[in-house]
Amino acid sequence: MSKSTFSSDEGIWLKGNLHGHSTFSDGELSPQQVFDGYRGRGYDFFSLTDHNLYRSYETSDDGLILIPGFELTCYSKEKRIHLNFLQKGEKSLFAQNQRFAVENHEQTELFIKQAKDDYLIMLNHPGWSLLEYRDVEAMDSLFAMEVFNYGSEWQDRVGESSHFWDNALMGGKRWCALATDDNHNQLCLVNIFSNNYRLEFHPITV
Ligand SMILES: [Zn+2]
Ligand SMILES: [Zn+2]
Repeated sequence: MSKSTFSSDEGIWLKGNLHGHSTFSDGELSPQQVFDGYRGRGYDFFSLTDHNLYRSYETSDDGLILIPGFELTCYSKEKRIHLNFLQKGEKSLFAQNQRFAVENHEQTELFIKQAKDDYLIMLNHPGWSLLEYRDVEAMDSLFAMEVFNYGSEWQDRVGESSHFWDNALMGGKRWCALATDDNHNQLCLVNIFSNNYRLEFHPITV
């Protein structure tokens, strides 16, 4: 994807990933091994989003900013969905190592209501979750969705969701589009990061 697709004159370009796992959920590398993997590949920021578990990590002064986050298994109506919660600032609503168990739509709504002021909330891998846009169109607290999830693509060839984003835009949502790798560390370090994956998006103008 060419940088010229966007404004090249303003701001700074940072390389990052907002979705990944470690041995604290179903990943195969320790948090430190994961951090070292990203750091060694020149990433500027990363959020380790283990399943249903809040943990924050100290950002060291070596250039990799660590954003506290977690991946919550929850519900939109009857459909099971995965949402990432990314902490906006220093304030945490949760204790270190706090675990979550959200079992239905009503509990999901309550969780989001309590967290939305302090956390950015994004919809993960709608393709892998077998979602249609109408399943989540009532959700009004999301800031973004994954238009590409490398883990879903590598595992099941369902990682590409730009069509879903188009539907959301046409439905009036103004969600940001994110690409993540959802790294579970199954592959060797040479291959687990999606540095060389090329993406082009052609969203419908609304
Ligand atoms: Zn997930
Ligand atoms: Zn994940």
